[in-house]
Amino acid sequence: MRLSKSFIPTLKENPSEAVIPSHILMIRAGLVRQLSAGIYSWLPLGYKVLRKIMDIIREEMNNIGGQEFHFPGLNPKEIWEQTGRVEAFGDILFHVKNRDYVLAPTHEEIVAFHAKGEIVSYKDLPQIWYQIQTKFRNEPRPRSGVIRGRQFIMKDAYTLDKDEAGLDVGYALHDKAYRAIFDRCGLKYFVVGASSGAMGGSKSEEFMVKSDAGEDTVAYCEKCGYAANVEVAQSVSQAVERQNESKDVFEIHTPNVKSIDDLCTFLNINENQTAKSRVYINDDKPILVLMLGNDEVNETKLANVLSGNVRPAHPDELKEISGADAGSIGPIGFKYRIIADKLLKDGNNLYSGANKNDYHIGGIDLMRDVPNIEYFDLRTVESGEKCIRCGSQLDVFKAIELGHIFKLGTKYSEALGVMYLDENGKEKPVVMGSYGIGVERILACYIEQNYDEKGIIWKDPLSPFDIHLIALNMKNSLVKETSEKLYRDLQKEGFEVLFDDRIEGSAGIKFNDADLLGMPVQIIVGEKNLKENKVEIKNRRTGNKKVVELDKLIDSFQ
Ligand code: ATP
Ligand code: MG
Ligand code: MG
Ligand code: MG
Repeated sequence: MRLSKSFIPTLKENPSEAVIPSHILMIRAGLVRQLSAGIYSWLPLGYKVLRKIMDIIREEMNNIGGQEFHFPGLNPKEIWEQTGRVEAFGDILFHVKNRDYVLAPTHEEIVAFHAKGEIVSYKDLPQIWYQIQTKFRNEPRPRSGVIRGRQFIMKDAYTLDKDEAGLDVGYALHDKAYRAIFDRCGLKYFVVGASSGAMGGSKSEEFMVKSDAGEDTVAYCEKCGYAANVEVAQSVSQAVERQNESKDVFEIHTPNVKSIDDLCTFLNINENQTAKSRVYINDDKPILVLMLGNDEVNETKLANVLSGNVRPAHPDELKEISGADAGSIGPIGFKYRIIADKLLKDGNNLYSGANKNDYHIGGIDLMRDVPNIEYFDLRTVESGEKCIRCGSQLDVFKAIELGHIFKLGTKYSEALGVMYLDENGKEKPVVMGSYGIGVERILACYIEQNYDEKGIIWKDPLSPFDIHLIALNMKNSLVKETSEKLYRDLQKEGFEVLFDDRIEGSAGIKFNDADLLGMPVQIIVGEKNLKENKVEIKNRRTGNKKVVELDKLIDSFQ
């Protein structure tokens, strides 16, 4: 590509709106431009890299048997209401004003919609469905460039399986594909145990990049390898930091709470509010846990208090307890109340797994003056967490989430009725998994890990071009002829070449632009070296330069 004919608007100065290195450099190198807060246009050079990333993702997803779809971004709100996620996403969800539509922030509902009725028998399973598509989220603080867009491209994949064993296989395949994708993109990353957030589900892990620009905090133990998002490891880091106020899990002792209705009265909430109850098994004994915060965070805290023997109940166990066919999580007043009611009536303990400060529902501070609550102090409880066990100091640092893999279970298939017939002709809910990668984040994280004071430092395979060919003075006929010939020959050899053939522009401007844009190899064609039939080659990363004879040029960088 000829620079004289390209739209690559470079900037000398740092843009005032950008703070983190990748954001600054993506604007300065003409990869993106902002349209509005959290909304970016991709310019040709940036989009070229983004396409390379999408090709790598596509190859690795196809390698594990993924089938590529393209689902719409505009979704009927009704489907999202059926899974309770209009509420769960809250302000993050964009609503379309003149119709009852939402702009999809993810696609579990739509996958379940299409699976319903078309996945009929166990013979139709397993399936791996994926897409590379635009997502919409009304992020409250979009300040890190494309790392937190209100519109962004996600590779999202979904597995459909007949049972948990199938899900384990699909989950492991995605773990493998994600490692291959991030390795090929040249990223340094690590994997942490994570919270499932608005997705729900039983297990999830995040692929993280250590970066001061990150908005997640990760706790990592070099000695035993324990790594967790602080959302999850909160109790661990609290214990490590010996904070006095870490009294987060508590048991509610109140003789008056015998049913969910009592509980709602007790907490001054109604059935439609967001409090969640979940049944856990603690040493074979069912307990009811009230969840008002994030499930897995509280699960970990609860596990700490109850000596680490807590796990979410399996739907089959719930059926044994209550006789009701239901899942394990849902808003109070949803069908799980049958189980919760039974547990409470049988005099089981009610635990609350939420921070005292989480108890704000509808603006009411629910817990402030509630009597009869006994607080456990996490500092005094021996934790079941691996870190703690090795006793080393945890390294706590900021990180960017690149990808996230979830075991969803049957939450969506139950809510939307995605059933199949098993080998015995019995109807069962399809077991789902969901797996996301932020495509723009790969690009931004690559830059966060590969830049210097002069600009970006690309390497194969993400580099937009292999070679930046600089003709120092296009008014000199020998320079012009030689660089034009080199441009043709290098492309014939299979290299992607960006040719700075601009007639205007000093050597200084051309060098600065080449360093800012960051192609791995620069070839500098100037009068002085040409007199000896030579050109200069510069390695962008090391800055090393060498002068080579023209006819040995190609060999010299192979
Ligand atoms: P975060 O914790 O950073 O808000 P998330 O946990 O909400 O991300 P997921 O719902 O797990 O994100 O979505 C899958 C992937 O999509 C994330 O791992 C991330 O790489 C990417 N992603 C999420 N939100 C954004 C965004 N606003 N802009 C760009 N990429 C995003
Ligand atoms: Mg988010
Ligand atoms: Mg997250
Ligand atoms: Mg996530």
